[in-house]
Amino acid sequence: MNRVERLREQMAGDEDAFLIMQPENRRYLTGFTGSAGFLLVSREQCLLATDFRYWEQARRQSPDWELVPQQGSWVTCLREIVAARGWNRIALEADFITVHQQQALTAALPQVEWVPVTGRVEKLRVVKAPEELAAISRAVALADVGFQYILDAIRPGVTEREVALELEFFLRRLGSEGIPFEFIVASGHRAALPHGQASEKVLAQGDFLILDFGCIKGGYCSDMTRTVMVGQPTPEQREIYAVVRAAQEAALAVLAPGKSGGEVDQVAREVIKQAGYGEYFGHGLGHGVGLAVHEDPRLAPGENDLLAPGQVVTVEPGIYLPGRGGVRIEDLVIITKDGCRVLTGAPKELLVL
Ligand code: ZN
Ligand code: ZN
Repeated sequence: MNRVERLREQMAGDEDAFLIMQPENRRYLTGFTGSAGFLLVSREQCLLATDFRYWEQARRQSPDWELVPQQGSWVTCLREIVAARGWNRIALEADFITVHQQQALTAALPQVEWVPVTGRVEKLRVVKAPEELAAISRAVALADVGFQYILDAIRPGVTEREVALELEFFLRRLGSEGIPFEFIVASGHRAALPHGQASEKVLAQGDFLILDFGCIKGGYCSDMTRTVMVGQPTPEQREIYAVVRAAQEAALAVLAPGKSGGEVDQVAREVIKQAGYGEYFGHGLGHGVGLAVHEDPRLAPGENDLLAPGQVVTVEPGIYLPGRGGVRIEDLVIITKDGCRVLTGAPKELLVL
């Protein structure tokens, strides 16, 4: 069954159409990669409305969708489509549309009942098709090459920003379509910031250095983290690294269909807690990755949905000691029918540079 058919299964009987504006959802359903446009899916019709800049591109990328050439504002275009068809009950993405947009819709089409819904397309995106897994694998493989490359640039005296830029430039030159997020390059005391973006801080002997980055291929993201040592580690640094690695291995050993995200998170969390660092692992264990770098499913406390084959998640435990530094190790993993397969190929022993 194709993506639109599976979406239609979620539409209520009295619903005339579903309005989709969220960019990744739009791309997932249509293949259209333009930055503007909206979709209307009814029982019989699949409409893609976009402005002049994208008409040719939309025809090429989305041949199964009826192109509605948008001339004026998107609201005017939508009003004309809806009025011509006599639709009066339309679902919209409650977690994406803004209050301002909703007000504009209500003003333009006062007779229409707008039904807020969430997660319909996101739910479909959670389990990846083979071609999606292939794109993600390419993004992972490229990031692995980037990791090997950047090791040579890591030495005392260079700034985090230089490392981040060098890595980004290298990956984009080798074909990454963009960066899925601003790379995290955090060293020394800044490695205690789980999301410390690259700063002007200079790398120094004795620093842990967290590198968290990814690539985009075919629209699909990858996400990986490695923590390396600049100079020789102290016994405490070796211990922290070993604990994080053991927590990640423990989670990977149990990650399988039928487990909940909460259960898998708990396994890693327990290893860190037993070692005495429980309070220093304050974020979830992992997240889904696809067209968006953070999507469902989540591996985190309280997540009860059961994992399924074809889902792609990160496994990224960490320990962050305020003022002293931190360690995170993150792999991207496909859930298979009887377990999981780690895509990330970069080594996980503590590299001393
Ligand atoms: Zn990451
Ligand atoms: Zn991540």
